[in-house]
Amino acid sequence: MTSYDLHIHSCLSPCGDDDMTVNNIAGMAKIKNLRAAALTDHNTCMNVRAFEFACEQYGVVAIPGMEITTSEEIHLLVYFRSVDDAERFEAEFDKYRTKIKNRVDLFGHQQILDKDDKVIGEYEYLLSVASALSVDEVYEMASRYDAACVPAHIDKTSNGMIGILGMMPEAPVFDCVEIKDISKKEEIFSKNPILENTPVISDSDAHLLWDINEAVNFLPVSAHGTSHEVRNRIIDYLRGEK
Ligand SMILES: [Zn+2]
Ligand SMILES: [Zn+2]
Repeated sequence: MTSYDLHIHSCLSPCGDDDMTVNNIAGMAKIKNLRAAALTDHNTCMNVRAFEFACEQYGVVAIPGMEITTSEEIHLLVYFRSVDDAERFEAEFDKYRTKIKNRVDLFGHQQILDKDDKVIGEYEYLLSVASALSVDEVYEMASRYDAACVPAHIDKTSNGMIGILGMMPEAPVFDCVEIKDISKKEEIFSKNPILENTPVISDSDAHLLWDINEAVNFLPVSAHGTSHEVRNRIIDYLRGEK
């Protein structure tokens, strides 16, 4: 079993606290006994390379991720097998970004960090706005990168798939969904029979350091082995390839 928190924002997300540096997140994940932690900034992977380096120092398995806002304003979590995959994905995704300048005074900083938490840049376009990609298109693109695509916080009315669409769609069929408040799982599943037997993850969606989860959630995959091995097992699980 592998303890995890697979939905965490760094100071690159406009809404992420400035203390959400890659080393602070990795250190907090270690304190909380998490074996695996995913960095999932809004519409970007620009801090995942530094995050992976930081996690290696703390013995935490880093999962490079991105929380994409689709054209329908639905949040989808995409998880990659490597930082290289994440960066190649981002280079392609850039064409579909809506490029509105960020207003730091209104939305907050979007800080790009190096492995030592030094701010090496500030991303100029607001990252939290909807991209031009639909749910179907993000799903297809993630599949091409052998990445996992997981609808985020489907129990939330804002930016959750059920909140926006009214129900889980017939297609694409997701191999895993995220529910923030796990006590709502039964109700959601009974209203959406298509979810029957679909694995569920539950994450903090932390924007503040102290919101990162304790080791209370576990994936049914072995926690042993190298980061590379554990990460691949996790992505396989999220892709329904057990
Ligand atoms: Zn979200
Ligand atoms: Zn989020």
